[in-house]
Amino acid sequence: MINDTIAAIATAVGEGSVAIVRVSGPESVAIVESIFAAKNKLTQVDSHTVHYGYIVNPNTREKMEEVLVTVMRAPRSFTMEDVVEISTHGGVIAVKRVMDILLQQNVRLAEPGEFTKRAFLNGRIDLSQAEAVIDLIRSKSERAFSSAFKQVQGNLSKEIEAQRYTLLETMAHIEVNIDYPEHDVESLTSAFIREKCSQVMESIEKLLRTANEGKILREGIVTAIVGRPNVGKSSLLNALAKESKAIVTDIPGTTRDVIEEFITINGIPLKLLDTAGIRETADVVEQIGVERSKSALEDADLVVLVLNQNEPLHADDLQLMEQIKSRQVIVVLNKMDLPRQLELRQIEEMFESDRIVKMSVKEQEGLDALEAAIAGIFFSGGIESNDLTYVSNVRHIALLKKAIVSLQDAIGATEEHIPIDLIQIDVRAAWEQLGEIIGDAVGDSLIDQIFSQFCLGK
Ligand code: GDP
Repeated sequence: MINDTIAAIATAVGEGSVAIVRVSGPESVAIVESIFAAKNKLTQVDSHTVHYGYIVNPNTREKMEEVLVTVMRAPRSFTMEDVVEISTHGGVIAVKRVMDILLQQNVRLAEPGEFTKRAFLNGRIDLSQAEAVIDLIRSKSERAFSSAFKQVQGNLSKEIEAQRYTLLETMAHIEVNIDYPEHDVESLTSAFIREKCSQVMESIEKLLRTANEGKILREGIVTAIVGRPNVGKSSLLNALAKESKAIVTDIPGTTRDVIEEFITINGIPLKLLDTAGIRETADVVEQIGVERSKSALEDADLVVLVLNQNEPLHADDLQLMEQIKSRQVIVVLNKMDLPRQLELRQIEEMFESDRIVKMSVKEQEGLDALEAAIAGIFFSGGIESNDLTYVSNVRHIALLKKAIVSLQDAIGATEEHIPIDLIQIDVRAAWEQLGEIIGDAVGDSLIDQIFSQFCLGK
C-alpha cells in the first residue's frame, strides 16, 4: 500500500511564465491546505477546481508566493490518488520556495517517475502505457509522438490482452482435458491448441513486423554522412539541419569529431552523424576522428556518401564505395554548380539510379531529391497508415520473441504427441511473457528500473 505523500516540480526548471509543483498522496489536500491562504478551504472545495491564493509559512503566515491551486481528488487523477497542483510564477526561486515549505511538512520528494509509477501501481495504466509516457516525453518527431500517444491510450495493451485471452481459453480447454479425459479426445484438443497458438503467433509476428519502423520512429534513422575531406559533408549537414553546428571549413581534415544532429524530414526523424573525412592520415588527432567515423559507419542505418563531382573519382572514394556497398547507401554528387569532372559510369554500376542524388549544397539545390530518396528507402508507404500499432520498446520486442518461441514449442509438442499437461507449460509461458509486457506479475526490480528512466516530477 502506498500511504505517503510525495511532491516534485513537474515543469522544466528554468525561466518560463509558470511552473508547477505536483503533490500526490492521501494527505496532499490537507497538507497544501495547511500552507495555503485563500478564500476557500481546500479540504472543502469540489474536485477539479482551481483556487487563487498564497503559499504561506505555516508558522508565521508570511506570504511566500502567489499561486493557483488545482485540486483533483482520487480516483480521478493521474495517480488515482488525491493530487494537488500548485502553479507558481516561472523561474527557479518561486518553485523552490514552494517546494521548501512543502518538504517541511509531511511530504517526501518524489523519485523520478514516481507519479507515473503510482498510476501503474494503482491500476490506472499498465506497464506498457507507463513506458509509452517516457517515449511521449522524449519523442523527437510528430510521428514518434503519435505512436507513443496511441500506446499511452492503450492500443498495444488491448492487442496484448486479446492475445492473452485466447491463450487463457486454450489453457482452460487443456485443463478440462486433463481433469476429465473421458469427455475429450486428445487429437481434438491437439488440433485446438495448434489452431489457437498459430493464431496468436500470427498476431505477434504482425506486431514484430512494425518493430523496425517503431525503432526508427523512436530513435531516428541513424545516418552517417561520409566522404573525403572537403567534398561538402559539413555543408550538407548544416543545410539539412538549417543551423550551423558543424564547423565548415576549407582546410581538409578539420572536422575532427563526430557531430550528432536530430532533424526530421517529412516527419521522419534522422539522427545525423557527421564524420571526419574518412581517409588514411598521419595526423594523430585526426586519426582519432577517423576511427570514430569508422565506428559511426558501423552503427549507421543509412550511409550518405558525398562525392565532389568537380573532381575525378579518387582511390579513397573507391575504397569507401567498396566498404559501404552492402549497406543502405545514398550517393550525393555534390558541387553540381561546378563543371563535372567525375566519371559517372563506375558509380552507376555500383548503385541504383534512385540512390544517386545530384546536388549543389552551396546553391541549396537537390535537397528535396535527397529527402525523397531517404523516405523512399525506409518507409515503403507503410508508415503513412497511422492506424498501425508500433512496437518500439526493446523490452517488449524481446518478450514478444520469447512468446513466439514458447508457442512454437507448444505447437511442436502437439505434433510429437507429448502429454497434454506438458504442452500446457509452454502455453502458460507464452501467456506469462505477454503478461510481462503489460506488467502482469513483474518483479519490483524491473519496475524500479523502468521508472528510474523518467524525469523528476513525472
Ligand atoms: P567537408 O570537409 O566534406 O565537411 O566539406 P565542407 O562542408 O567543409 O565544404 C568544403 C568546401 O566546399 C567549403 O568551402 C564549402 O563552401 C564548399 N562547398 C560545399 N558544397 C558546395 C557546393 O555545392 N558547391 C561549391 N561550389 N562548393 C561547395
